[in-house]
Order: sequence, then C-alpha cells, then structure tokens
Amino acid sequence: MRESDDNSSDALSSPTLPPPSSLLPSPSPSMRRGSVSAVSAPVPPETRAPDPAFCLRLPKVELHAHLNGSITADTLQAIWDMRRSRGDELGVAPPAAALKDPSHAQGIDSCVSRAHVLADATPSFFAHFGAFVYRIVNTPDALATATRAVLLNFLSDGVAYLELRTTPRALPDTTAEEAVRIVLREIVAWNASDGASMPTRLILSIDRARHDTGAAMEIAELALRLRDEGLPVVGVDLCGDPAAPCDLRSLAPAFKRARDGGLGVVLHFAETPGSSTDAELDELLSWEPRRLGHAIHVPVPLRERILDAGIAPELCLSCNVLAGMLPPVVKDGVERAPGIVDHHFGWWWDKGGPLSLGTDDVGVFQATSTDEHVHAATHFALSRKDMVDLSRRAISAALGSDEDKQRVQGLLDSFCRDEGWGRRVSR
Ligand SMILES: [Zn+2]
Repeated sequence: MRESDDNSSDALSSPTLPPPSSLLPSPSPSMRRGSVSAVSAPVPPETRAPDPAFCLRLPKVELHAHLNGSITADTLQAIWDMRRSRGDELGVAPPAAALKDPSHAQGIDSCVSRAHVLADATPSFFAHFGAFVYRIVNTPDALATATRAVLLNFLSDGVAYLELRTTPRALPDTTAEEAVRIVLREIVAWNASDGASMPTRLILSIDRARHDTGAAMEIAELALRLRDEGLPVVGVDLCGDPAAPCDLRSLAPAFKRARDGGLGVVLHFAETPGSSTDAELDELLSWEPRRLGHAIHVPVPLRERILDAGIAPELCLSCNVLAGMLPPVVKDGVERAPGIVDHHFGWWWDKGGPLSLGTDDVGVFQATSTDEHVHAATHFALSRKDMVDLSRRAISAALGSDEDKQRVQGLLDSFCRDEGWGRRVSR
C-alpha cells in the first residue's frame, strides 16, 4: 500500500482469510461476466470456476511485494527466538503473540462491511508492525533469514516468478548498500537452487517522503551498479506516504537516470485522492513507467491513456479493501463501504491489457497470492482459462528478461495440458 516497506511490515502469521472454499462463487451479481455454468454437463474444464486448489497450483506471477511487508509473524518469531537464544536484547515482546491483532483476524469478506474501521486501525498497525520489523530484522543474519523465509513462502504459494522490492536502509553497523547486497546474496543463492522454480528479481524503492534529489539519485546509481555487476536488479520504484509533503519533480532525475540506464520504472500511483491530482499523475506518467502500483483514483480517460501506453497496473485487492483505500460506493443515495467486487480490477480485466495481482504486504494483510487469485475469480467471475490468461498478462509486464517471460508462458502451456485442456486452448 502507500507506506514504503519501511513502514509496512508484515506479519500476522496465521492465515486470516476464511477457508478459501467459503470464497467460492455463489450465484450473485458479482458473477456478471458469466463464465461459470452450473447447469448442463459436460462443462469444458477450462470454463469451470477456479477453486482454491486450482489457484494454488496455477503458476502465478507476483510483481508487487515489499520485502519487509512480506515477512510473516512466524518468521519474526523465529528470528526473535534465534536472537534471544544468543542473548540479544531486542526490546520487543514475542512477535507471534503481539502481532495477532484481533481486528485483522478475520476474513476479508467479513471485513468489508466495516472497512472504515480497519482503515482507521491500519496506520497504527503499520507503525506497530514496523517497530517489530526494525527491532528484530536489523542484523545481517536476521535480514538474510527473513529474505529466505519470504522467498520460501512465495514459492510454497505457487508463485512461479517474483519481483520483490525493498527500500535501501542502513542497519546498525551495516550500510544501506550492504543491506541491499545481503538481500541480493540470498536471491542469487536462491536463483541458483530453488530459483529454478521461482526466479526472483529485485527492485529498489525510492521513498517520496524520505528521499531528496541526492538520496534518490544514489539509489538509482546503486541499482545500476548492482545490475552492472550481474546481480538481479531490474528496476526502481517510487513508494512512501503520498500524504507527506514532496516535490515529485525533485525525484524525476533519479528515475530518468535509472530508465536511461535500462532499468524499469514502477511507481506507486494514485493511492489517495490527494495524490491523484492531474498535475501529479501527469508528472508521474512523464517518467515513462512500465507499471503502476494500485492506480486507484484514476479517471477513466487517464486509464485509457495508460492502457494505450501499454503500462500495467499492479492491483492489490485485499490491501486496498482492508486499508480503506477505495472510494466509497454510493447507490440510490446511500453510501456503503466498498468491497472487492467494487475494485477497479474489473475495469482493467475487461480491457484485456497487461495487469497483475499483487499481495503488497502479505504479512500485514494476510492474503497470499493464491488468496488474491481466489478473490479475483470469485468477485469477477473468472474461469480457469481466465486465470491462466491473468498469469500470461502479468508476466508480459515483468521487468525481467525475455527468457523469464518465455519460461512462465511455457509453464502455463504445460499447466493447461496437465489440466486436460491444453489442446483446445491456445494462447
Ligand atoms: Zn506497495
């Protein structure tokens, strides 16, 4: 969401979503796209509604995940235990218990009716969570352990290609560059082993609320230098609190430098009404981004312009609903809190362009990539073939190499064959 991964955090460990089966489509207005038929048999398998097991085994593409926000409470607890056993004084309570915020301990559907309550609670929860991350994941060992755990969690969730992002941040006795290198060492080791199943690339984030022109340029230069060393850095991101005072134009040179150097530009975009003025959105689009995070408060004509430019939105359903980022829905003069069915995903999906589903902060919102795909299938009546198309449209927007993209497309071809409909359904 709008916080940088420094503010976000992650982690309530226990899945908060209701059993995925309870999220399956029932006949409802949300089934308006009508890919599911409960009547005549036999139903071609690719037209059936995806169930959670299908969404889990679907090769998925995750393009919007913050490293810190993707650390789970279980991982924080494990690191806390490890460090306490060494005698480290961390100054925070055991995270597994402390981060079990009851306001988050329910499924998203039951949350929707009181999303405003969660929206009010979320900023303090971010701060609460951030305190744990910064106290616990502040040594090279802890950062390496947390990175490995995040990669394993995405792999076990059926993610086939991952772009992780992180804001360079110094640790005690460790520079920001060295901290990034620690993360990259883990990713490189991962890509050489388990990465055969989930190649992982890194994006460095520039925080609009914390970085000035010089600091932003340093991050852009660092990203280029690391990429030139052969490390898997593929882009730079704009993140941070959009409500904080910021002259965006002061950051433009850093993004230009990165783009001119061959890195992809991705931007948190139109997260709040206040950060969605014509001037701001025009400025950000002039940076020639490849993808836009969230893209919530975007007028339809501008959406069309984005679509025409081939820029992919990174859409985060649970995050946007649980954090109260979506505009209220007014019908017949009555205002209600928005749910997933009201999410702008539907608009982008129908247009057929590139787009991706992101988790943003699995730790905070407790919705995995599989959960997000189940939500999309449920509320937008997507078929199994649609879900494969979603992965195809997502990988087309990756910042990785053509080989990365061809690999995922090949996996999806194999997946269709394994599902028994590869011969009838082509790309
Ligand atoms: Zn984000």
